[in-house]
Amino acid sequence: MAIPSKTIKVFEELLESPQNRLVEQAVESGRIPIGYSCSFVPEALLMADKLFPLRLHAPGLAGTELADNYLSCFVCSYTRGLLEFAMDGRYDLLKGWVFVPSCAHMQRLYDNLEYLQKPDFNHILDVPRKVNNDTLLWMTEELQMLADKLAHHFGADMSDVSLRKAMEQWNDFASVVQSIGDLRKKPNPPINGAEFHQIVMASLASPKDLILPYILDFKKEIEQREGIKNSRARLMLVGGHLHDPEFIRVIESQGCVVVADRFCTGTIPGFKTIDINNDSPYKILAEYTFAKTLCPRMMEDFDRRLNTIIDTVKEYNADGVVLEIIKFCDLWGVDAMPLVSALRDNGIPVLRLEREYCLGGEGQLRTRVQAFIESMGK
Ligand code: SF4
Repeated sequence: MAIPSKTIKVFEELLESPQNRLVEQAVESGRIPIGYSCSFVPEALLMADKLFPLRLHAPGLAGTELADNYLSCFVCSYTRGLLEFAMDGRYDLLKGWVFVPSCAHMQRLYDNLEYLQKPDFNHILDVPRKVNNDTLLWMTEELQMLADKLAHHFGADMSDVSLRKAMEQWNDFASVVQSIGDLRKKPNPPINGAEFHQIVMASLASPKDLILPYILDFKKEIEQREGIKNSRARLMLVGGHLHDPEFIRVIESQGCVVVADRFCTGTIPGFKTIDINNDSPYKILAEYTFAKTLCPRMMEDFDRRLNTIIDTVKEYNADGVVLEIIKFCDLWGVDAMPLVSALRDNGIPVLRLEREYCLGGEGQLRTRVQAFIESMGK
């Protein structure tokens, strides 16, 4: 059994609130939290000058009574959870929210927040649905428009120099998280999937510079560890928004270890570093954002999504894939059908799980994972 980490408690505590103590600390020092809820928003752009990005989540969401007055029960529980928290004042430190019309559910969330005037800076980043030269230009202009609005509204320095500095800061940060993630490739990884996701989610929900010292401490700690022995299977997790590490902990309670995170809030390829060249920062970030986001909203991009999963299974020596989909998520719901059969055609066992945004039905989840591991002869 891996030596429990002292530092992991810090990440647990930081995940208890959507506005944790590091966020409060940054706000007290005059910095500006900008919320976002989709991976097509490049964090580096929101790290310029006094701004910092905050991936919005709804930890401990008990119900969506308020949100259900505005959004139908067929809207995914992630968007209803965000609206509930927004209406309940759980994001009151937020100075701005950048949206992407990733799906109709997210669009409805935006409409209602505009209607409720929450917060006073709301921006839609109109991300195209295909990747080609024309849409690269379109995305470059969209990022420029966003930067101009941030500069105008908050007086933030969004100059090329400032953006390049922010991109370097992202790269320094992402490289550290990736270096911990790469340890999962080992036959006996010194870190399990639940721990790794605690770090990733806590870092997405905190100012990067303020959480980095804890991540470096944690890295030192686990480098002393022997590594996880006797795990029955190595699994890869694929899918949409996954914020709660407890979901992974329940999966791993069946004697397996999650070694790769190819989901919306995961690091593969979400924590890719930016190739900073002489192009305009907006073109660099446009290319980067298309490369690091693998979302079913994108047309003519299925093969890239499929091949990334197949390559990652090989790279992390995973025995099987768990595909997690939030109920009523039409993007992942539709993409899952061809994806599951294509992976099985490639000899990769797949377990498809439908879930709500908040963890529930742990018993059934354990049974499904148990049966899946046995079906692989493990
Ligand atoms: S989980 Fe699916 S439906 Fe919900 S916001 Fe994300 S993409 Fe949209």
